Amino acid sequence: MVTNRTPLIAGNWKMNLDHLQAVAFVQKLHWTLKDAKHEDGSVEVAVFPPFTDLRSVQTLIDADKIPFALGAQDLSVHDSGAYTGEVSGAFLKRLDVSQVIIGHSERREYHNEGDDIVAAKVKAALKNELVPVICVGETAEDLEKHGASAVPVGQLEIALEGVASDADIVVAYEPVWAIGSGQAATPEQAQEVCAKLREVIKAKLGDDAAARTRVLYGGSVKSANIASFMRQPDVDGALVGGASLVAEEFAAIIRYQ
Ligand code: PGA
Repeated sequence: MVTNRTPLIAGNWKMNLDHLQAVAFVQKLHWTLKDAKHEDGSVEVAVFPPFTDLRSVQTLIDADKIPFALGAQDLSVHDSGAYTGEVSGAFLKRLDVSQVIIGHSERREYHNEGDDIVAAKVKAALKNELVPVICVGETAEDLEKHGASAVPVGQLEIALEGVASDADIVVAYEPVWAIGSGQAATPEQAQEVCAKLREVIKAKLGDDAAARTRVLYGGSVKSANIASFMRQPDVDGALVGGASLVAEEFAAIIRYQ
């Protein structure tokens, strides 16, 4: 499918870089990327720092007019109230956060977030005009038992339940066995599952949404393999973990062509 979807390269920092390190890192990344194509908008770059860094990174991006979108790694299903330790989408929006990762496998595994919570968080994000970056993916065991696409397809179907057809969303296919393992999916595997996920978007939200929505691949993406993923017709970018923490490496991923 030939489309004009703007590629998205997203850096999920996970629980790395405190707010001082975050500021130094974003300055270095911006400097390293001088004259890169994200400056003209042909690639969108997003960084997803820990909550405690958001204000500092937002201030820097704003002051220096750095063309990075700011994302958060999670949000509460609630808007405010007696929910100790939670951070709401409304608060994130006030910090100019525009995207939020939902359903990352580390949240699903370590915080028991099931598909119902993921679906509620997608709604909370959209209600607050944040773009949910909906993560789906199979474990090694799922892969063996059901093949690559059954679990991510099922997860996405539930996550999109009740979502409006004009909603602005991003989907990230992240095979759990590929995350942080150094063993990425092959570009062909990624393409096959991303195409199936686009079919889910089409079935749930319609043709326009399927043509417009960016589907990312994530799991051991690095500068050496990014171009092979980006050549796939249904892969519109990458969600990058470890390699997004090294400025030169992340910059090389952003300059993938
Ligand atoms: P990785 O992580 O790039 O370190 O494999 C990807 C992710 O968890 O989003």
